[in-house]
Amino acid sequence: MKPLPFLFFILCLANFIQAQSTWPDISKHQGLNLVSEADNITVFTSENAQVDDHTLNLLWDAKRYFDQVFGMDFPVSILFVSNSEWNDYAYFPPPGMPQAWAGNIFLGNEKSIVAIQAEQQLQNLPAEQLKELQSHFGDPLNMDLFYRNNVAVHELGHLYHFFEASKPQKRWLQELFATYAARNFLVKSHPKMAKATAAYAEVGSEAHFPFIKHTSLEKFEELYLPGLGAQNYEWFQFQLFKKAVKLQEKFGEKGLIELRVFLIQTDLTETEKMDYAQLQNQLEEQLGIDMAELLLSWGY
Ligand SMILES: [Zn+2]
Repeated sequence: MKPLPFLFFILCLANFIQAQSTWPDISKHQGLNLVSEADNITVFTSENAQVDDHTLNLLWDAKRYFDQVFGMDFPVSILFVSNSEWNDYAYFPPPGMPQAWAGNIFLGNEKSIVAIQAEQQLQNLPAEQLKELQSHFGDPLNMDLFYRNNVAVHELGHLYHFFEASKPQKRWLQELFATYAARNFLVKSHPKMAKATAAYAEVGSEAHFPFIKHTSLEKFEELYLPGLGAQNYEWFQFQLFKKAVKLQEKFGEKGLIELRVFLIQTDLTETEKMDYAQLQNQLEEQLGIDMAELLLSWGY
């Protein structure tokens, strides 16, 4: 099999941005056009961008679902920005890749560069795997379903954590929470998309594996996206995705709600940094032995 020089990744750089004092961070709304305001969702567009109704409706549904599951309702701004204007408005590159911070979700108007690259590179997959992906993402592959819609819901999921806290004991737990949240929503409301994204996580994880350097969660914490590089970082995200699939199946919404509480209560602004044994004890105490075991299991 040819090497797959994947360059795409799921952006979760929130830790690198200074906390904002307002929610949503309205400094990011300057220069954008207000399109609509209802049900605690405000929509903006940049000059050359239009609203993508499909993704907006998905986020609308997801917000209603998360509000109900977590028993909260806070304002969210959705900002559609064209790829050419991306760097003028969004928190960070690459153009078109969904990102969230401080109550704002940036969405691309066009397909993201990441999805375009993925579509090209996935053509190098063995025929069987390509066929499997085409059964979910179409032929030719349209990876927007993953890199726009799925990632947008993941990003919205982050906000239900970041609204309360943003310095978790472990970054991998923060990422797992957002993916687990998205997973619950998709399984419940969009089963076809849930199947497609799980299939992609399996195929993508396998395809990346021969080309990555780091596999331990310690390295994920230490190096994160800048140190790991896009491909290795995405491999970790795929592993967390597969873990989220199991969490949803075994612990459903109850586990998700409890994981959120855990993240907030053990935030580093409130508690000391835990070592592995302390983390394990605390997870077992708050989430139960079975869920703690699944959370901490890591086959690499
Ligand atoms: Zn994330």
